Amino acid sequence: MKALRFVDNQLKLAEIAKPENEREALIRVTKSGICNTDLEIVRGYAGFSGTIGHEFVGVVEESRSAPEWIGKRVVGEINAGCGICEKCLAKDPRHCPNRTVLGIHGRDGAHAELVTLPAENLLEVPANVPDEAAVFVEPLAAAFGITEQVEIGDTTRVAVIGDGKLGILCAFALSLKSKNTVLIGKHREKLILGEKRNIEGILLNDAVPALNRAFDVVIEASGSESGFATALDLLKPRGKMVLKSTFQGKTNLEMWRVVVDEITIVGSRCGRFAPALELLEKGLVTVEDLISEEFPLAEGVRAMSRAAEKGVMKVLLSIKN
Ligand SMILES: [Zn+2]
Ligand SMILES: [Zn+2]
Repeated sequence: MKALRFVDNQLKLAEIAKPENEREALIRVTKSGICNTDLEIVRGYAGFSGTIGHEFVGVVEESRSAPEWIGKRVVGEINAGCGICEKCLAKDPRHCPNRTVLGIHGRDGAHAELVTLPAENLLEVPANVPDEAAVFVEPLAAAFGITEQVEIGDTTRVAVIGDGKLGILCAFALSLKSKNTVLIGKHREKLILGEKRNIEGILLNDAVPALNRAFDVVIEASGSESGFATALDLLKPRGKMVLKSTFQGKTNLEMWRVVVDEITIVGSRCGRFAPALELLEKGLVTVEDLISEEFPLAEGVRAMSRAAEKGVMKVLLSIKN
């Protein structure tokens, strides 16, 4: 089968053997989405080697341990736990110390014709959610997962910094909890995607001074070092800063300001798939206008460089079988 692999510090489309894992379900991938994490992996940050890709939708082809899944159209949670540690026994493998993560850590990913995952990671996609939307479940879950960690009510003033894919999904998801959610970014054309959903968009240059100390919760999703400082400026005393982007460098955060203003800093990574799938099923979040372009898997390398270009939103790979 074909797979988009990062091996020996090189990204290439490879022909590899069909994955064999009798304990897991074998899924024929229909579409996969390119994420910033994929771009970071091919820059060598994560130390991962293998097939990349963790956002996908597909159809279960084989599943020996749970045959009821065969033929179902599914998405899959990306963390596979050891099954025996405290975290796994509490049914949350996201922090299992021995976990593997699809296309990120110790497990081949989904930019491929076939992928395997434990059956318990799978969720059936409702019939009214098309593949183009289902492929967004993972990043939408990551965005909505913020609400697992930080309480956001009708009147909570929320600012999302960063109008890239993740920031926009955070704004979409959090605006369902609070109408006082604004999206702050550098690109007028991206802020419009939020404005179409009644989310106020603010250009970064105009934003900061007038809105200093105006927000209860600020989500840093810009992936840039300056985002941290902006977040501190925008927060009210005792506000909560949610760090969403896996910024790889070191930051010069002015920690004394965190102390003086008694700011809570919350790191946030993966969310649950079921609530995100429900948002798509009910039409509470629509995502199709975030798709910039779609490439066949065979052009995966080109698709990855396209996804890295400025201004490009979600790039999908379609796997024609
Ligand atoms: Zn992702
Ligand atoms: Zn475990």
